[in-house]
Amino acid sequence: MLLYGNIRYNYMNHISKLPEIETNIFTKMSVLANTHNAINLSQGFPNFKSDDKLIDLVSNAMASGHNQYAPMAGSMELREAIANKFDVMYGTSYHPESEITVTAGATQAIYTIISAFIRPDDEVLVFKPAYDCYEPAIAINGGKTISMQLKTPDYAIDWENVKEKLSSKTKMIIVNTPHNPSGTILSEEDLLQLQEITDGTNIIVLSDEVYEHIVFDGEKHKSVCLYEGLKSRSFITASFGKTFHNTGWKVGYCCAPRELMEEFKKVHQFNVFCVNHPMQKGLAEYLKKTEHYLELSGFYQEKRDLFLSLIKNSRFCFKPSKGTYFQVLDYSKITDEYDVDFARRLTIENKIASIPLSVFNDEDIDYSVLRFCFAKTDDTLKRAADILNEI
Ligand code: PMP
Ligand code: GLN
Repeated sequence: MLLYGNIRYNYMNHISKLPEIETNIFTKMSVLANTHNAINLSQGFPNFKSDDKLIDLVSNAMASGHNQYAPMAGSMELREAIANKFDVMYGTSYHPESEITVTAGATQAIYTIISAFIRPDDEVLVFKPAYDCYEPAIAINGGKTISMQLKTPDYAIDWENVKEKLSSKTKMIIVNTPHNPSGTILSEEDLLQLQEITDGTNIIVLSDEVYEHIVFDGEKHKSVCLYEGLKSRSFITASFGKTFHNTGWKVGYCCAPRELMEEFKKVHQFNVFCVNHPMQKGLAEYLKKTEHYLELSGFYQEKRDLFLSLIKNSRFCFKPSKGTYFQVLDYSKITDEYDVDFARRLTIENKIASIPLSVFNDEDIDYSVLRFCFAKTDDTLKRAADILNEI
């Protein structure tokens, strides 16, 4: 369905379960970029290679015969390595046996969490602009998305407004830090607010932390697992694709207290059962060296700084991204065009592709802002900057 446009009814008059869903923006913009031979800073993926050492580890795992099903929750070595990473990063632990599951990317983790808990008419609070996979998963399970607008220009959460939107139907709150698409991060104060307003409720928190290792300017990532009151009600989802430059491998994981994870696994075992085995073996070994993830923020901060220094005299305005590998650029000094149209025109005429922010929002809220992915070689960033400086 997703790939064929806005089809309201499927074959034989079955009513679509997702009538409003079109091809997603990442696919659309990447196709447009390829068609028009544009530099693709739209869909978020690196255009450089994953570390050869990791590729060798995976090849060795295949050569040495790890080619059959992995254990349902993931290879034990990988779950142990993930548990160790929590200890290194946050000084807290998840039990590899009962509190960690390896997933087919964060997308599958998110879909499975929502499917395991959301029933018809349950309400899920989602902060907008929001990454695109939350809302369809809520809808397909009969739940209702309650949108909360993040306040620009800092994309801040209005906690008073959140309190007003809570009701007896609120089953889940989804947070995402560092935040895609805005490149902002939640603060200690935000996490404490979240902890306070969920205290004494049955609300599950789904914390999408796929960019946990990409946080800039000396800031520390604030994971929900750092706050006991949040950890006990939260799922954390993460993605090796972001951390190790291999989004195409689609390996991620999620963690939660045992009771929540047991419900998760009931769904997981039937929607995927288990995840690519040799990749898991390779990742488990690779994770043993902490520098492989601890050095990522510095690596991407250099890319962010290069990109921003190159476009500092352009007509785009920006606040430096605080995390993720995305930078949003405000183009209101250039044109008053709707962002979807402007992104399209830039791709076709100027040969540079980006993502318009309005697609992550309800209706047609237009911020005059485009998202650019800087997970690219320095050469690509320079060529991209040359174009942006001419606009
Ligand atoms: N959440 C966010 C915020 C993302 O940006 C992405 C992908 N870029 C995902 C989840 C999905 O991650 P994965 O590719 O591991 O499925
Ligand atoms: N998460 C990536 C992004 O934000 C895209 C993932 C996808 O194409 N589904 O650009």
